[in-house]
Amino acid sequence: MPRLTVVVPAYNESAVLTTFHERLSSVLDQLPLTCDVLYVDDGSRDDTWAIMQSLAVADPRVGTLKLSRNFGKEAALTAGLDHVDADAAVVIDADLQDPPEVIPQLVEQWQAGYDVVYATRSGRAGETGLKRFTAAAFYRTMEALSEVAVPRDTGDFRLLSRRALNALSQLRERQRFMKGLFAWIGYRQTAVKYMRDPRLAGKTKWNYWRLTQFAIEGITSFSSAPLKLATWTGSAASVLAFLFGLKVLLKALWRGDPVPGYPSLMVVILFLGGIQLLALGVIGEYLGRNYNETKQRPLYFIEEEHLPTARTPIHTEATPRR
Ligand code: UDP
Ligand code: MG
Repeated sequence: MPRLTVVVPAYNESAVLTTFHERLSSVLDQLPLTCDVLYVDDGSRDDTWAIMQSLAVADPRVGTLKLSRNFGKEAALTAGLDHVDADAAVVIDADLQDPPEVIPQLVEQWQAGYDVVYATRSGRAGETGLKRFTAAAFYRTMEALSEVAVPRDTGDFRLLSRRALNALSQLRERQRFMKGLFAWIGYRQTAVKYMRDPRLAGKTKWNYWRLTQFAIEGITSFSSAPLKLATWTGSAASVLAFLFGLKVLLKALWRGDPVPGYPSLMVVILFLGGIQLLALGVIGEYLGRNYNETKQRPLYFIEEEHLPTARTPIHTEATPRR
């Protein structure tokens, strides 16, 4: 029978984890597959890890992984996926915003031959108008700027086939914009539609500051268009400044300069100063990311790992063989 592993990153999710597992297991029970679940504790500060342990005691299909600190969802996901040895993996949030009931549909498409089956939201219940608007603006910008099309209104909730998992595991960049990476690997991809539920309990870790960082991350790791933007605005400003300078010079030669040109001088200085800072900022964003990549640090460290009872441990870059 084909094997499926469900990877669940969780950070401070003690309020929902038990309910989540109940709903997930009743879905898995009905699948014609050998299933297991891998919970990744991303350095939670509540009793998420203890709850995971009790789930593992009660259910032999449950494996748990504890990262050495909070590395962020992207790293937690990567850690989980690195430990999958099944024929396919499903990635799902612990907060029940991604309904486990959609998993059979994902599996169906996988069995029809698709490598990446992503779940696309057809609605965002329980999210504010502002959040919807910024999300839409972000997807459109990404679409316009990056070389691969990141599917709109799609989170990380998806199924990956073995070869998609193998491909993904070779992308070890530190700047992990997962949605972009999933799209970048290619292969046969398809979508399944679902309604996104509001969070069951607890609260989102994504405030607008984090979302902005996330958007900059996405754009800079999949497009160098902003660097060109700096070049183009810079050259346009220089041409304008040159023409203006010529005008000032000719005027002074022709009619003399009775009034000192303080306002025009200020305008030019401020304008060019602004453009230069903008360009420097853009370069800085890329340089900073370059710096992070060159350090070649592992993406995460594992503090404890308990794979589902039937499985043998897999050693990854961050868990060296002893
Ligand atoms: N998460 C994580 N590490 C983090 C932040 C979040 O593993 O640093 C997990 C979280 O527990 C949840 C999923 O990632 O299972 C999505 O997080 P959240 O619900 O906060 O994001 P949103 O649904 O608002 O995009
Ligand atoms: Mg959520």
